[in-house]
Amino acid sequence: MSFIANLRALHAVDSQVRGIKTRFGNAEGDLKRHQVQLDALLEKRKALEAQARQLQAGVANLELEDKGFKERLDHLRTELNTSSNPRQYNALREELKVVEGKRDGLAERILAQVENLDKLKADMAAGDAPLADRTRLRDLAKAAVDEAKSELGGRLAELEAQRGRAAGLLSEDVRAAFDEAAEQNDGEALAEVQVISLRHREFNCAGCNAELPLDAYSRVAAQREEVVTCLTCGRILYMDVVPEKPAAKKTKAAAKEAALDPDGLG
Ligand SMILES: [Zn+2]
Repeated sequence: MSFIANLRALHAVDSQVRGIKTRFGNAEGDLKRHQVQLDALLEKRKALEAQARQLQAGVANLELEDKGFKERLDHLRTELNTSSNPRQYNALREELKVVEGKRDGLAERILAQVENLDKLKADMAAGDAPLADRTRLRDLAKAAVDEAKSELGGRLAELEAQRGRAAGLLSEDVRAAFDEAAEQNDGEALAEVQVISLRHREFNCAGCNAELPLDAYSRVAAQREEVVTCLTCGRILYMDVVPEKPAAKKTKAAAKEAALDPDGLG
């Protein structure tokens, strides 16, 4: 195989390896994104639950306090009913009023706390559906990663071995140049030289459409085992078909140029 054919063989298998890795990467990226969003919801839920537990404990304490007031009131009422002494009776009535007032205040506090708790429970209930949705999305993303792994894991190993063999046919320098070009161009390491006008010596890189200097064209056209890259995008340039040289015009300038450059290509 020719130098360029070897490079193209490497590119073909390298593209497949990159494609599979991109698919893995995307699936893993999706999973990570869903997991982060789910974690945020779970964190929020945990905070609400902690708040609810705290409120519940607060309500329980207040209810205990209320029980104490109720017992005190029952006791006072019993005493009141059996009191025969007017002075004691009045004192008991006064105390009863005070304790009743305190108990009413407490009832308001309990009510407020219970309302807070209900609101918190409503918030949590409203979060149930998003939490379930997000969990389902995370599970789907995880299934996609597992599927990609089991389906393509073997294929990837096979392709990487193939890639190694294709790379083995090239010298270390060329491999390094290929890897660099591939890295810079999302795997599109190679680009054909487009001849816009041979007569006007206009050539483009088919990868990025930048104009190529005559020197680049000449070196690629020579089809030697030499890496020629596009100065703009960094792709390795190749030509499957090298056009024939135009018939040299015997102008004074051309003759002079031909004398300086026997290849006639710059
Ligand atoms: Zn280019």
